[in-house]
Amino acid sequence: MAIPALNPPLRTLMGPGPSDIHPRVLEAMAKPTIGHLDPYYLQLMDGMQQMLRQLFRTTNPMTMAISATGSAGMEATVVNLIEPGDSMVVCVNGVFGGRMVDVAERAGADVTKIERPWGEVFTVDDLVPALEKKPQVVGIVMAETSTGASQPLEEISRAVHDAGALLLVDAVTSLGGIPVEVDQWRIDAIYSGSQKCLSCPPGLAPVSFGPAAMEKVLSRKTKVQSWYLDVSMLANYWGTDRVYHHTAPINMSYGLYEALRMIHEEGMEACFARHLANHEMLKAGLSELGISYAAQEGHQLPMLNAVHIPEGVDDAKVRGELLNRFGIEIGGGLGAFKGKVWRIGLMGHAARETNVMLLLAALRKLL
Ligand SMILES: *Cc1c(COP(=O)(O)O)cnc(C)c1O
Repeated sequence: MAIPALNPPLRTLMGPGPSDIHPRVLEAMAKPTIGHLDPYYLQLMDGMQQMLRQLFRTTNPMTMAISATGSAGMEATVVNLIEPGDSMVVCVNGVFGGRMVDVAERAGADVTKIERPWGEVFTVDDLVPALEKKPQVVGIVMAETSTGASQPLEEISRAVHDAGALLLVDAVTSLGGIPVEVDQWRIDAIYSGSQKCLSCPPGLAPVSFGPAAMEKVLSRKTKVQSWYLDVSMLANYWGTDRVYHHTAPINMSYGLYEALRMIHEEGMEACFARHLANHEMLKAGLSELGISYAAQEGHQLPMLNAVHIPEGVDDAKVRGELLNRFGIEIGGGLGAFKGKVWRIGLMGHAARETNVMLLLAALRKLL
């Protein structure tokens, strides 16, 4: 039997990730593989750290990329900050807050879950009762990819720190698409993923740990439950000691390096403005088709447009035709939004006028 040759179709990726990849990033990934302790690779790690610090707007030395997807970034921040029995508050208004609860419980945290309806965001008032119990860590999702809601963090951060807790933030979908101010907002631990607004294939999770988080890690009484994600060991590889920990995914790192370089070439502010402008163009076009947004007005993410599926429209059929006739991938709803919303991504390289126009024309044809 002949095994078919690899021949993936060309797609326009406008779902919740992975997003469209610029050819420069794919070309970077095809460069020669070198060793993970090669002096050239060590230089590349330094460059990657420098660019990640700029994007996270932080001076945190412990800023690096975990060798796995965004969910491993979530695990890495949680398992390093949580010892069995520690109390953690998790804010849940969509799928990813729910995932953080599961991860925290598996790490042995005593979890208090606070909830808002899907599509809405949290205010300080929502957190007050839970903060009175003096939790050690508070976890929250900045860009909830299941609902398209954009969570403000500044005031919540103040309340969390006044209560003596550490703030842990999911920036998987936000990093590269909207400003993420780690130092200014005093975020203690944060994680992202390579395949959303960074426009790199999936496989790396940028993370950053601030001084208070590192103090907690270094004063633990128990070992971190995960050998692979133990940040004190990873620090010896990403820091000046360069002690072998695991074999870094070299060519994935080439991809992330190039993707970050492209964001810095464009300029972070210009990149955020491009995401916003394309979101506004899409929103205006969808509104002409009678399609409205699922997330709270004033808190809608530019890079993830969760919209109500129009009455009487067959969800699977339209998404199938978008894919098969026009090569466009958009996302269906997850969890409580399954069958109710479409999730249209304008992430990274996918946030382009060409994509917006193509999708609007295709939807006009299909509806
Ligand atoms: C995609 C996503 C994750 C999970 O990332 P994976 O790369 O799929 O593991 C976590 N949080 C949010 C908000 C996401 O959008």
